[in-house]
Amino acid sequence: MTKDRISRTTLVHGGARRSQYGEVAEAVYLTQGFVYDNAESAEARFIEAQTDEFIYARYGNPTVRMFEDRIAQLEGAEDAFATASGMAAVNGALVSLCKAGDHVVAARALFGSCLYVLENVLGRFGVEITLVDGTDLDQWRAAIRPDTRAVFFEAMSNPTLEVVDIAAVAEIAHAHDAVVVVDNVFATPIYSRALEQGADVVVYSATKHIDGQGRVLGGVVLGSRDYIRGTLEPYLKHTGAALSPFSAWVLLNGLGTMDLRVRAQVANAEALAEALHDHPKLARVIYPGHADHPQHALVQRQTGKGGTLIAIDLTGGQAAAFRFLNALKVGIISNNLGDARTILTHPATTTHQRLPEDQKVALGITPGLVRISLGIEGTQDILDDILSALDAA
Ligand SMILES: *Cc1c(COP(=O)(O)O)cnc(C)c1O
Repeated sequence: MTKDRISRTTLVHGGARRSQYGEVAEAVYLTQGFVYDNAESAEARFIEAQTDEFIYARYGNPTVRMFEDRIAQLEGAEDAFATASGMAAVNGALVSLCKAGDHVVAARALFGSCLYVLENVLGRFGVEITLVDGTDLDQWRAAIRPDTRAVFFEAMSNPTLEVVDIAAVAEIAHAHDAVVVVDNVFATPIYSRALEQGADVVVYSATKHIDGQGRVLGGVVLGSRDYIRGTLEPYLKHTGAALSPFSAWVLLNGLGTMDLRVRAQVANAEALAEALHDHPKLARVIYPGHADHPQHALVQRQTGKGGTLIAIDLTGGQAAAFRFLNALKVGIISNNLGDARTILTHPATTTHQRLPEDQKVALGITPGLVRISLGIEGTQDILDDILSALDAA
């Protein structure tokens, strides 16, 4: 079945395990550990726990396992491992793969903490990092070497929504046996087909669209059973990035409504991109789903939809951007994304504040740039709010 046809059913029912009580909603197994019938069964479980057996919540927990199974089914992955945050997932995915002397190639347009993991964690332990312009395949070709262990990129970048061609980069990387790790938050799990397109490992911050309601932190790494159980799990279970069972329960319920939310968000983003097109106060409107996006053809091939975020650049610079943000009545000023609420961010003074000026320029983070993460509110309410706030700017 295609992803479209299985996704909603999977998102509601996938991975569910009922106890002997037959509860409707998934149980929250708020327990650190598990009791064994006798000493022999404790020994047997430590030799090899079966799929519905657990030892210690840092290694695995039934509620967390339900979440992992549900997202793995949606993504078409053999297995998944959930973590306490998106960054624990990124850190786990990369650090578990690499050793001193390895080489990693990554796209330069990265979430700040991802850049920290590469340069300040892997870099400090002797992994060499090469950063490239992710949209330029020649730069990937030039950077990848026989000792390249992994390539890493955000398939759609924050905040300027540049798109990296997963299939093309995977082909280049696989020619040197490098593992392709994709941070696919901006594509959303609904529109991601990254594994099918050549990614070996897909990482999500579940804090974003999976929760989608601004409640908990979480993350998940998806890939082959060999990679998840053989490479990633040993690293994560001994270093303690375990997702709490309560957060896993929130995220399981988040998955149940994710398809409805993400489709409503995308519809709002499409309507807003259309309404803002040619607006006299905007120097740029960046939306990967709009025909004027420079990579529109790639977007159609890779995700089919342009996602839930838009970036706009006010000609009046930072002062105009602040007047615009301060005039909003429905949209809120914050820095999460993928939420049911429309959230607006001024990257230059918040999420990307600490970047040196030349790097901001190189990444297109201008003083007038505002990132809009569309929520599920009524389309007309959002359009009215944003258009009248632009009048006030
Ligand atoms: C938010 C985000 C992360 C980090 O996730 P947390 O849950 O905040 O730790 C990593 N990558 C991308 C693209 C993100 O948007």
